[in-house]
Amino acid sequence: MEAKKIVIIGGGTGGSTVASFIRKFDRKAEITIFEAGKWPTYSLCGMPFALAGIVKSFDKLIELTPAYYEKLRINYYLETKVVKIKHKERKVVYAKNGEEFEKDYDVLIIATGSKGKRLKVEGSDLKGIFTARTMDDFRSINEYIERKNVRKAAIVGAGFIAAEVAEALAIRNIKTYVLHRGETILRRLFDKDFAKTIMNVMSKHGVVFMPGRHVHKYVGTNGFVEKITTEEGDTLNVDMVIEAIGTAPNIQLAKEAGIKISEKTGAIKVNEYMETNLREVYAVGDAASSFNAITGEEESNMLATTAFRQARVAAYNILGSKVKYKGHLGTSGLKAFELYAGTTGLIDKMAKSKGLNSVAVTLSLPSNPHYYPGVKEIRFKLVIDKDSKRIIGAQALSEKNIADLITAASFLIMNKVDIVNTTLMDWCYTPPLSYDWNVIIESAFQAVKRLKAI
Ligand SMILES: Cc1cc2nc3c(=O)[nH]c(=O)nc-3n(C[C@H](O)[C@H](O)[C@H](O)COP(=O)(O)OP(=O)(O)OC[C@H]3O[C@@H](n4cnc5c(N)ncnc54)[C@H](O)[C@@H]3O)c2cc1C
Repeated sequence: MEAKKIVIIGGGTGGSTVASFIRKFDRKAEITIFEAGKWPTYSLCGMPFALAGIVKSFDKLIELTPAYYEKLRINYYLETKVVKIKHKERKVVYAKNGEEFEKDYDVLIIATGSKGKRLKVEGSDLKGIFTARTMDDFRSINEYIERKNVRKAAIVGAGFIAAEVAEALAIRNIKTYVLHRGETILRRLFDKDFAKTIMNVMSKHGVVFMPGRHVHKYVGTNGFVEKITTEEGDTLNVDMVIEAIGTAPNIQLAKEAGIKISEKTGAIKVNEYMETNLREVYAVGDAASSFNAITGEEESNMLATTAFRQARVAAYNILGSKVKYKGHLGTSGLKAFELYAGTTGLIDKMAKSKGLNSVAVTLSLPSNPHYYPGVKEIRFKLVIDKDSKRIIGAQALSEKNIADLITAASFLIMNKVDIVNTTLMDWCYTPPLSYDWNVIIESAFQAVKRLKAI
């Protein structure tokens, strides 16, 4: 059999995963990645920590170098932008150094990611206003802070990137204001009580939250931003502004090629195999639509973990196995100074707004037995659907790492485990590692009692 020609547009999280995964199973395929940017595959997730100085240089964020791709015999074109998909001819047109070339394919994967949204207000074109999406964005922010000796900054936004950037600036002793529309930040990820704890910890470290604010305009002199005003009447003097108001999927190329775009999400419409409406054309990552694993609703879920899973599903199917994508739970985490926060599934408020008959059980337990050094509290919330008695969400806060607890909860939700069976979970315990009462099991046990589930 002839070697399959696989072309991938975008060498970020999703594109690099598809390529590496296929190569592990198919030694013969001709795999080509086109990457428009100048940085080899890097960790977007690590950028706030390089900005904070926790990671010592942005260069350390490079994860897969051209040498890696060469070793895997993957043709990797940097600073090469795909400008057109000619699907009838099974070709893409790419631009490199001002010249255009064509490359043919049997299978095409679109992994073009997303771009930072911008506010459309007066003064938006002033210098010193940044988005926080790419390596170039973060390097520019860093360079601007150093060159302009930034002392005061405003962050507009309420998502986890806004929170991470706020922490990074505060660590650098920059007075940081976070302007957000709602009462709390991270509104889709944490119920109010948990979000408030995160905000309190960040406030203690100097971050100033300004809830219920809408940016009115930016004001500057000599072309550089100096003030931000709000519709609520505030005027803040700032040296820089970072807009972290969300991202929009990069779909123009796909749209021009006749690929269907979801009206709901604005991302590329895909089926459970990550196939688009064009034969042998797949889409993964931020550019592709996803669906909520609990409600089944089509949504965007711009996370690296979603990109990885979608990329694996696409790769399995390209390799010939029929494997279905199971949707997302929005499982994610945040470090807010000494506090770790994690979430998966639906928060209680969201579950209720979706018409689910939900109840939340909140517990605080120690991370380890009281006699063991370094014990910390874990605050945990389990959201349960009263009708099916299944877990549909979990949130955790602690000064200890709670990532594994949230991952375990996500597995229970994805696999539709009910609360009675959750109380029978076999968990990993020894005093230095954990407590003899596991918070997931104990919360489920409380729920069993409260809902009279036995
Ligand atoms: C600051 C920050 C922190 C984050 N932290 C986390 C985290 O902690 N956990 C988590 O799960 N997720 C996190 N994310 C989200 C995660 O990084 C993204 O969801 C993920 O990278 C999406 O993967 P992707 O492949 O779709 O897009 P990307 O990784 O962005 O890759 C898309 C690539 O396509 C290229 N491209 C676009 N158009 C073309 C074209 N026409 N031709 C060639 N190349 C093209 C782009 O240059 C880009 O490199 C974070 C994101 C940011 C910005």
